[in-house]
Amino acid sequence: MQIEKFSLGIGDRFGREGLAQLRAVQQAEKAGVVVVPVWNKSNREHSLIGTTPDDVRAEADEAVSVAGWKHAYHVDADHIGVKTVDKFLAGSDFYTLDVADFIGQPPDPSALGAFVRDLASFKGTLRIPGVEQTFEVTDAVLEKIGRSYLAAVMEAGTIYRRVLAAKGEGNFIPEVSTDEATEAQLPFELFFLLGALAREKVPVQTIAPKFSGKFLKGIDYVGDVDAFARELDADLAVVKHAISVFGLPASLKISVHTGSDKFKLYPVINRALKKHGAGLHLKTAGTTWLEEVIGVALSGATGLAVAKKVYTAGLPRYEELCKPYATVVEIDRAKLPAAATVDRWTADDFVSRLRHDQANPAYDINLRQFVHVAFRVAAEMGAEWTGALEAAREVAGRCVTENLFDRHLRPLFLS
Ligand SMILES: [Zn+2]
Repeated sequence: MQIEKFSLGIGDRFGREGLAQLRAVQQAEKAGVVVVPVWNKSNREHSLIGTTPDDVRAEADEAVSVAGWKHAYHVDADHIGVKTVDKFLAGSDFYTLDVADFIGQPPDPSALGAFVRDLASFKGTLRIPGVEQTFEVTDAVLEKIGRSYLAAVMEAGTIYRRVLAAKGEGNFIPEVSTDEATEAQLPFELFFLLGALAREKVPVQTIAPKFSGKFLKGIDYVGDVDAFARELDADLAVVKHAISVFGLPASLKISVHTGSDKFKLYPVINRALKKHGAGLHLKTAGTTWLEEVIGVALSGATGLAVAKKVYTAGLPRYEELCKPYATVVEIDRAKLPAAATVDRWTADDFVSRLRHDQANPAYDINLRQFVHVAFRVAAEMGAEWTGALEAAREVAGRCVTENLFDRHLRPLFLS
């Protein structure tokens, strides 16, 4: 099983928008580009909402059959580790092996020695076609890379072999993610990370490096766009080189875990993909949930009250709701509108603050990030939320489709 050139990771917290999401990639297909949908959901998200990986599989299969989607699609066990992988074995065919926590853990000294010996042929000046900078590789450099990454790579091997034993060779797509690491990877580090994965016999097909800058949930990129452009450009060259040097799958490509809505980066990504003729996996998360809240708010008086309640009932639980996302949200709490204020808002007042339209002066990044993490409140509302969502099915579905197509797929793949 090989991942196609372009793929879009889509999340669906409540598992009701599969068809609406698929409509967006169908629009892209009509416009001339096949982007394969990959439904992703992490263990954290499943446990906060009370869904199972098999629910995602059922949703994806159902959406594909109803919509008549003829291309591939996948179900991603997102950010799993040895402890969490088992329940994803039946339903998933894409595994994001998250080894960020193992970066920097000291490897076994004899394993480190073997690693340095095996990569000794790279000692000297390392030139990667398409990367201007060269790197002087010495034993000390290889040892440093081994100390940083070897334990993580061996962990990826352990998780990979667990999935392999259950699913069989070639029946799933392995991604390796280090995007939740604390430090951004340099191009030559990515090169040796890929080399180490090949050495560990992990046929990685998508690799999610940590880029510099902030990838906060549901809002735009915070950081130096030019620096990101340089990193991506180098990383794409590294991937191409690593495929041939290390014999990795030809389908290997970069996976950008965006946390959604990195609109400033989309034109940069678009240009880089064209320049390199490269593929891409772009993972979003939460953008569909926010569109659901918008759709519910727009669906009438009852819906508006329910949408407001997700926010106002969440406010007193601020710490608890933000805690699992501590490193990926930056909310100025003092600027969050008070519940009494929100209660007076019209649907338009609410939606214009929540919707990610930076041209709208009312757009509120604090409110948007907070609603992003407040999905737990909606999950606990049970039938009150799902009933409102059901009643808003049409408008919410339209919001979901338009958002994915107009704001994500079009600038990324069609401009
Ligand atoms: Zn990620």
